[in-house]
Amino acid sequence: MVVYANPNTDGAVVHFKDRYDHYIGGEWKAPAKGQYFENPTPITGECFTTVARGTAEDIDAALDAAHTAAKTWNKSSPTERAALLLAVADRMEENLEKLAVAESWDNGKAVRETLNADIPLAIDHLRYFAGAIRAQEGSLSQIDDDTVAYHYHEPLGVVGQIIPWNFPILMAIWKIAPALAGGNCIVLKPAEQTPASIMVLMELVGDLIPPGVLNVVNGFGLEAGKPLASSPRIGKIAFTGETTTGRMIMQYATENIIPVSLELGGKSPNIFFGDVMDADDSYLDKALEGFTFFALNQGEVCTCPSRALIQESIADDFYDLGIERVKQIKQGNPLDTDTMMGAQASNDQFEKIMSYIDIGKQGGAEVLIGGEAVDLGGELSGGYYVAPTVLRGSNDMRVFQEEIFGPVVATTTFKDYDDALSIANDTLFGLGAGVWSRNGNVAYRAGRDIQAGRVWVNNYHAYPAHAAFGGYKMSGFGRETHLMLLEAYQQTKNLLVSYSEQPQ
Ligand code: NAD
Repeated sequence: MVVYANPNTDGAVVHFKDRYDHYIGGEWKAPAKGQYFENPTPITGECFTTVARGTAEDIDAALDAAHTAAKTWNKSSPTERAALLLAVADRMEENLEKLAVAESWDNGKAVRETLNADIPLAIDHLRYFAGAIRAQEGSLSQIDDDTVAYHYHEPLGVVGQIIPWNFPILMAIWKIAPALAGGNCIVLKPAEQTPASIMVLMELVGDLIPPGVLNVVNGFGLEAGKPLASSPRIGKIAFTGETTTGRMIMQYATENIIPVSLELGGKSPNIFFGDVMDADDSYLDKALEGFTFFALNQGEVCTCPSRALIQESIADDFYDLGIERVKQIKQGNPLDTDTMMGAQASNDQFEKIMSYIDIGKQGGAEVLIGGEAVDLGGELSGGYYVAPTVLRGSNDMRVFQEEIFGPVVATTTFKDYDDALSIANDTLFGLGAGVWSRNGNVAYRAGRDIQAGRVWVNNYHAYPAHAAFGGYKMSGFGRETHLMLLEAYQQTKNLLVSYSEQPQ
């Protein structure tokens, strides 16, 4: 199937194959059981390709290839690893539009996001870790006059990585870049909802990667993900996905006593203090944009600002302006470059969001705007579109406590600083948060007092490399997008050396 962005450019044309095999040992390998599953695009709901349905046998084959490659790659120099990451980044940049369209078609997200955010960010993370590994140093401790402890970083060997469907290529690269930089070989399992764009990526970059260093096995959670996460042949399992799945991943890893990193769900508060209304127009404009970010990526972001807390003193005006701003979100064909909000990634997700909107209504939440599915007409009628939705209620409602993972914001008001912080922290999750205030003291204190791994102060939804990303509480543990992640993909080897000529 041929897919392209509108307005079209030559670089934006993607030729999807009718069928994708696994990518194992540098080759396309048919699944051991010979089964494939259908992959629909959320844009129209039509199936556009079929994908290998992996099982334990395929995971084993991928682990064989990875272990063979590890004999050499584990000993590669930082320079070689950096060169590989830079080559992959360059190839992705040369094919930016193609990858952006593939990602948009597979996931349903707006191509303006994939062109300007997802793929460029992925490229930058590869370059960041290429630099980070060149600059990494071990350490030396002097124990006494004759004895020295050397500390080396060594690869873990072969690692397993399991990712979700909301940012398929970006989530893959967030994990692949540090693991390769650390000298590891990888078996990656993408999400079954979005397997195709990663296979387009492998078609583009496969020739740059030594065979077996990066293997991709597609399939479902229990059939392919579980055999990978529970294999005794991996040195680490890195997982991004739902909190309930994360708990299972930890259980599997416990059996083999291997490290785990978990990037899980969230219910992030976005707090608007009263002084935002007194600030100059451009700041207020930025804050209102920050309010609408619950709809960015159709709300399918783990850090979605899905709870907005607004100070009572400004509530009437802020709601009016915020709703006006939500009306400006342009929904449409995700492949049109002026579309701001596309389709939900799957029919299951679409139905889950619609049922949460009902739960909100039944629980007493008021729908201020949206609250319904959207039919965009023509061939898009089969796609999965939801209107950006603003609910108003209280923090004890289910729509304030449970992750919806859609373009739905649950809003409420607060009296003062203590009230705001108590509502913000009244959640099982602790991934992201936003604080909007021109008062430096308030903004700083709130940033420190919120129990979340990433607090955006006077901005939101920025994901630069070199700023650590990860969760508190049920949002998981471990940090990504920072050089500290290198050590999470490495062992520490200590050589304790005596230079003394004397017996001890
Ligand atoms: P999910 O947990 O259902 O699936 C994630 C991956 O795990 C998929 O590849 C799936 O096939 C696999 N999987 C499912 N069951 C498994 C099992 N028993 N063993 C091994 N693998 C299994 O999550 P999802 O619905 O794909 O993703 C949405 C979730 O991801 C949301 O909760 C979101 O908040 C979270 N997320 C978190 C971050 C973050 O950085 N914290 C980023 C993106 C998404």
